Amino acid sequence: MTGSLVVLGTGPGKADLMTPATRAALDRATDLVGYGPYLDRIPVSHPGQCRHASDNRVELDRARQALSLAAAGRQVAVVSGGDPGVFAMAAAVFEAVEAGDPAWRQLDITVEPGVTAMLAAAAEVGAPLGGDFCAISLSDNLKSWATIERRLTAGAEGDFVIALYNPASKARPHQLGQAFDLLRKLKDAATVVLFVRAAGTAEARVVSTVLGEVDAAVADMRTLVIVGASTTRQVGRWVYTPRRERST
Ligand code: SAH
Repeated sequence: MTGSLVVLGTGPGKADLMTPATRAALDRATDLVGYGPYLDRIPVSHPGQCRHASDNRVELDRARQALSLAAAGRQVAVVSGGDPGVFAMAAAVFEAVEAGDPAWRQLDITVEPGVTAMLAAAAEVGAPLGGDFCAISLSDNLKSWATIERRLTAGAEGDFVIALYNPASKARPHQLGQAFDLLRKLKDAATVVLFVRAAGTAEARVVSTVLGEVDAAVADMRTLVIVGASTTRQVGRWVYTPRRERST
């Protein structure tokens, strides 16, 4: 049988936020490749299915391993959290294809979309992404902090709602604070800031504050931070960004 590779995402956490197409692709797979905790979220489909768990830092090695398995005739699913194309494995797979064995370009490679953290986080609080928005990963493992600062500045100057992925980790405790310092120089102190932890799970928790009073220590690696645009506002217990532009 010819091999195949599907890159998929489990969604933010709750089983019913995994799409039926993703579930079906998982059931078809002979081999699952991914970061251990993501694989642990997936119930065993059939006893013959092999799991290749790895740690989180070696995305390209994991992509090459998955491509080799597919080239050897296996039906491989590469598993990410959320959506596989958002700060996750899909780009690593294509990077490995670009630099790797030319035969990999002939493989049957597909990507299944998933519910990314920013959408689950927005839904926990209302509609903060209702206007134009951007997403920035604060991790500087794969890009420089100078690039991150340039993009934060552009997001603020464009008055986008800014979704911050990877806001904090043990290796990078200070960067979110530095990001807020930068944003405070460019945006109003009353700008809404949301910390949504474990969005789309039973343990979801929201902290809503403003840029002038924000405490970066609230965020951990399971938190998505949303910094509002000038129009983002609170209504009752909800937060939304109107689609209509208006002066504030
Ligand atoms: N591919 C994933 C993102 C991977 S980057 C996706 O599409 O969601 C990892 C970062 O995503 C975390 O540091 C955190 O900022 C965010 N994240 C992932 N799941 C989350 C959740 N359930 N709630 C809040 N943030 C989450």
